[in-house]
Amino acid sequence: MPENLDQVVTRFAPSPTGHLHVGGARSALFCWAFAKSQAAQGKDGRFMIRIEDTDQARSSEESARGILEDLAWLGIHWDDGPVLNFQGKTIGGDSRHVAPYFQAQRVTTYNAYIEHLMDVGRAYPAFDSSEELEALRKAATAAKQTFKYPRPADVKPGVPSAERLAKARAGTPHVVRFLMDADAVVVQDQVLGDVKIAPGEVDDFVIRKADGFPTYHFAVVIDDELMGVTHVMRAQEHLANTPRHVALQRALTRLDTKQPFRTPQYAHMPLIFNMDATKMSKRDKAKAARKAAKDAIAKNPALTAASLASSTGLDGKLVSDFLAAENDNLDVASKLGKHLNVALPEIEVFDFRASGYLPEAITNFLSLLGWNPGLKTADGKDLEKFDLDFLAKNFSIDRIGRTNAKFDRAKLLSFNADAIGAMSEEAFVSRWLAFLAEHEPAAHATVAALGHDKQLYLARALKPRAKTFRDALRPIGFLFTTDESYSFDAAAVKKNLKADGGAGLALLREAKAALESIDDSNWKPEQIHGVFEKIAQRHADASGKPAMGPVSQAVRIAVTGSTVSPGLGETLAVLGRAHSLARIDRCLGSI
Ligand code: GLU
Repeated sequence: MPENLDQVVTRFAPSPTGHLHVGGARSALFCWAFAKSQAAQGKDGRFMIRIEDTDQARSSEESARGILEDLAWLGIHWDDGPVLNFQGKTIGGDSRHVAPYFQAQRVTTYNAYIEHLMDVGRAYPAFDSSEELEALRKAATAAKQTFKYPRPADVKPGVPSAERLAKARAGTPHVVRFLMDADAVVVQDQVLGDVKIAPGEVDDFVIRKADGFPTYHFAVVIDDELMGVTHVMRAQEHLANTPRHVALQRALTRLDTKQPFRTPQYAHMPLIFNMDATKMSKRDKAKAARKAAKDAIAKNPALTAASLASSTGLDGKLVSDFLAAENDNLDVASKLGKHLNVALPEIEVFDFRASGYLPEAITNFLSLLGWNPGLKTADGKDLEKFDLDFLAKNFSIDRIGRTNAKFDRAKLLSFNADAIGAMSEEAFVSRWLAFLAEHEPAAHATVAALGHDKQLYLARALKPRAKTFRDALRPIGFLFTTDESYSFDAAAVKKNLKADGGAGLALLREAKAALESIDDSNWKPEQIHGVFEKIAQRHADASGKPAMGPVSQAVRIAVTGSTVSPGLGETLAVLGRAHSLARIDRCLGSI
């Protein structure tokens, strides 16, 4: 592959061992943005995805697919990498001819380089049993030292270990270790500056595991070189790995061109923490579910670990261990959360998707985790609201910060609410329906059957207040019940219908009569609202203030059973004339 000096290649290299964490999404976003920002300088920027699936036991195709879908959904589309068909679009490809993009399919290549390193005396087979290694580890701990693998006396840099090679090639189980450099390694990091690692700080680490697969350290170095990666941008937790990578690059020569390996530019990005400075992890879900369960047990002594287990269909011991914080089982967490009706904190991109967040709000918010454009709005505030196009034009590595980023959920929620509020009603309908189809199929069926006019009424009523797409479902429970099956909130009935000698009921009767005069073709929010306004005027208080509150609460209770629903004109318009009147009748008849 001829080197193109005007080409910038970044990569996101997820291990497919679960869903895409928001931290991973932030890394991908910055890699994408940096590649895209090259266009402004007339350069070619390519963003690539590589799936690091060499940990066979923990990797799955399903997880790889989920990660790719989450990225596609966020709008972080890759130029090169696995091909994904997403919402009618094909993402990925192999324009630079460096496939395959799954490391498990590249083992022959890794082995060629490992064999080469062994042949030139920069790597050697090691035959230690796990007991032997464990004993060395224990001894190091006892001596209050960090464990470093001691290089065997027969291993010499630059001298192939003929005896070891013969033993390994004869089939003796082994790992392959790299002969680490004797001199210091300096990592020149674009964000953190020079990071120096003293000689001897890193031991002869494993580059090929006993199962024949390369370790992460080895595969990442081979692939970044062979795939032409120019900029490695990843979270700071990988900084400690980087000296190993640089040492490997110094030791390696390409087998095809005989050129030495290049060291890409490194940029390590700040870690993302919860607001309370703890690390954001899946465990937060377990913590929240455990707390909810314990609170519930404290309130209701009849509730026990065993009863929770039986009502969730979980194993009793698993649940009691979970409550005792002896495991953080995510299945237990999610089932307890559902059963106790508490929302667990979102950690992975899919959690945010299912909670009804918008991709543009998430990417805007993630952009600010460790980066900012350094620009002001017209009124002098920090510019924080922007879209992916803006990010692609304005992103630069030199504005990546060094300090830990804080994941401010309230801020994300407000970004999301603003993005929903800014949508047209048409856009709200189509995107909300798509959300429901994916995450709430039963609700989707009901809303889809309403037809477009009623959906637009809903959009008008829900959009200004919904912070998430899921939120928008909360005030419209009345849509998902039949005219006979919802119950009337007793306290609300007492206060709004029965009090003052049934003043509310009288208003309700009046409203019913007036509503009956609207025919089907005029059954629209404005007309309905007009009817209520007239009644409210008629019952204005001494100061002339119309009685809108009492009228609308009486009707609202009648048609929904409660005092919460969106605007009443829209509520009745969406229910339709026949259902609205039937519900009012039922209320009048039963109270
Ligand atoms: N597979 C590694 C991870 O998911 C990639 C780290 C890197 O970007 O080098 O953490």
